[in-house]
Amino acid sequence: MSGDSVYIVFLGAPGAGKGTQAARVAEELNLAHIATGDLFRGAQSLDTELARQAKYYMEKGELVPDEITIQMVLERISAPDCEGGVIFDGFPRNLKQAEALDEALEGQGKTVDKVVYIKVSEEELLKRLSGRWICRNCQTPYHEVNSPPEVRGRCDRCGGELYQRADDTVETVKKRLQVYFSETASLIEYYALRGKLLEVEGEGSVDEVGSRIVESLKEEFARSG
Ligand code: AMP
Repeated sequence: MSGDSVYIVFLGAPGAGKGTQAARVAEELNLAHIATGDLFRGAQSLDTELARQAKYYMEKGELVPDEITIQMVLERISAPDCEGGVIFDGFPRNLKQAEALDEALEGQGKTVDKVVYIKVSEEELLKRLSGRWICRNCQTPYHEVNSPPEVRGRCDRCGGELYQRADDTVETVKKRLQVYFSETASLIEYYALRGKLLEVEGEGSVDEVGSRIVESLKEEFARSG
């Protein structure tokens, strides 16, 4: 661990459950949750260059350029709520971002402590991504078949309106998976070589996968003191 603060990266393909699990674990461990996709979507209501650029790439299922993404994340982690540590969800997504994160943390005497890699088969990813609904207010995800809300179109947690992401269409989903396998999957090796990777089986219920993640993180932190 980096002093009193903990930095954990959640890695996995789109649809692996990163967002759901990162939010749960962040709450349980009392860490800030930084989801770059949520930050980009949140920026859409603003008339800024960042919002325009992000929209352009997100709609195509491609990565937003590194300079924009890295700067946004570095600004975000310097906020006071990140002092106790952070769970990164959807960042880094390529080698350049991983190196930029390492460098920024090292500059403050900190480091990425652990990387939770949620492993899910490609067939299951496609199934999950088509049928996904998300709360506009609190971002809780639902699935038409696997985890439907109690009331259609309404969030169980906050009553917010559920919507389907514009980039959850079949074409864009395929592109996002392709980008994951060509650019992001190499980070599995990057972190494994540094002894940071924790591989967790991502199939099963949200609770089952959540318990697996928390258990393996606790074991790791107990081992490293
Ligand atoms: P997500 O919500 O994590 O699935 O991200 C949705 C979209 O936001 C991605 O398809 C990218 O266009 C963009 N995005 C999110 N995180 C990053 C990142 N770390 N680097 C570049 N683009 C990103």
